[in-house]
Amino acid sequence: MTKLDQIRAAESRLLLPTYDRNPILFTGGQGVHIVDEQGERYLDLLSGIGVNALGYNHPAIVDTIARQSRALIHTSNLYFHEGQAELALRLTDLTGLDRAFFANSGTEAWECALKLARAHAGIKRSQGGNIGTKFLALEQSFHGRTFGAMSTTYKDKYREPFAPVVPGVEFVRFNDVADLRAKFSTEVCAILVEAIQGEGGVRPLTPEFFEEARALASSTGALLIADEIQCGMGRTGKWCAYQHYGIQPDITTLAKPLAGGIPMGAVLCTEEVSHSFHPGMHGTTFGGGPLACAVAIAVIDCIEKEGLLAQATEVGNYFQDQLRVLAMRHESIVDVRGRGLMIAAELDSADLAKLAVAEMLKRHILINCTSETVLRFLPPFILERAHVDTAIAALNEIFTEYTAAHAAAPSVGGHHRG
Ligand SMILES: *Cc1c(COP(=O)(O)O)cnc(C)c1O
Repeated sequence: MTKLDQIRAAESRLLLPTYDRNPILFTGGQGVHIVDEQGERYLDLLSGIGVNALGYNHPAIVDTIARQSRALIHTSNLYFHEGQAELALRLTDLTGLDRAFFANSGTEAWECALKLARAHAGIKRSQGGNIGTKFLALEQSFHGRTFGAMSTTYKDKYREPFAPVVPGVEFVRFNDVADLRAKFSTEVCAILVEAIQGEGGVRPLTPEFFEEARALASSTGALLIADEIQCGMGRTGKWCAYQHYGIQPDITTLAKPLAGGIPMGAVLCTEEVSHSFHPGMHGTTFGGGPLACAVAIAVIDCIEKEGLLAQATEVGNYFQDQLRVLAMRHESIVDVRGRGLMIAAELDSADLAKLAVAEMLKRHILINCTSETVLRFLPPFILERAHVDTAIAALNEIFTEYTAAHAAAPSVGGHHRG
C-alpha cells in the first residue's frame, strides 16, 4: 500500500464524508508549482481555490510566519496587539471603506456583514425609519457554508438538506434589472452581490445592474454589500473588483488570498454602518490574531512591491487572449470571460469539462470546474506568460484529442455542433 492509499483508507474511516478528493498527496511547493510526495511538480492554476496569491514558499510569507510565531501567535481580542490597527489601515485604504473587523474565514466574514446589515436596519427602525429585514441575494450566488451564508447562497443543494434556513432571503435573477426593481422595497435591509460571481461560474455583474443595486439601496437607506472573498485583494487587477465599476459598497468582505494561505477573513464598512455594533454584539476568539495580521500585511506589501496588480492584469489579459484563440479552433469552448487572474472558459458539455480537468491533472496542471460546464482558473498573482503557454498547449491537446475521438465515433455523445 502506498502512503496515499493508507491515508485515503484512514480518512474514509475517520473523517466526515464531505470531500471527494483527487488522489494526490501534496507535500511541498515552490512558486507557482505544488509538489507531490514523489517530487512531481504541478502547475497550480487554482492556488488552493484562490488563496495562495503569492504561490508556494514565498519568502515574505515564510519569514513573517517564522518571525511572528516566535514573537506572538495568539492573544484573543481581550487585549491589544500590534497587527489589527496596522492591517485595518491598509485595508481601509485599499477598499475605500472606514472600519474593519477580522474573522477567520470567508463565511465568517459574511456572517458579520449580514449581522451588521440587520443591526443597521434595526437602529434605523428605532429612529422611526421605514426599513425591513429582508436580504436580496442573487441567483448563482455563493457566500459560504454557515447558516446565514448558506441561506444567502443560491443553489438548492447547499441549502435544502439543512432546512429550515435563515428566513428573509429572496433571490433576484442575475443581472436582471427589472427583477431587481420588482423585488426591491422598503422591506429590504441589504442587497448582496459579488462583483464577479466565483462559484457561480466567473460571471461579472453588468454595470447597469450594479449601478441600479447601488441606487436602490441608497434610496431607502438599505445597504449594498459586496462579497469580495474570491474576486478581491488584487485578483482582478484592482484591489477590489467593484473598483472596476466605480461603485462603492457600504460593506465588503475579504478572505481567500488575504493572508496568503493563513486562514483569515475581514469585513470593511463605512463609518456610519460601523455604529450598528457596540462592544459585545459580535466577536471571535481567533479572529485578527497577531500571526494572521502580520502575514496579511506582508502579503499586501508584497503585492505592492512586486507590482502584482499590474502583473495580474497583464498576464490575465494574455491568458484570456490565448483562451479566445483556442476558442476559435475548438467550438466546444463557447465563452471566455473574467478579469485579471479570475478567468473562465465555458464549454458546451459538462462531460467535456470534467474530462478536461482530469486530463489537465494527468498533465500536471491544476484547474477546476464550477457550474458544471465552466473551467475556472484562479492562479497565483505571480503567474507569468510562460505558464499560460504551458496551460494553453495542454488544453489545445486535450480538445484536439476529444474532437478526434468524437469525429471517429460520431454516434457516441451525439451532440456535436456546427
Ligand atoms: C469561498 C467563498 C466564500 C466562503 O469562504 P470560506 O472561507 O470557504 O468560508 C464566500 N464568498 C465567496 C464569494 C467565496 O468565493
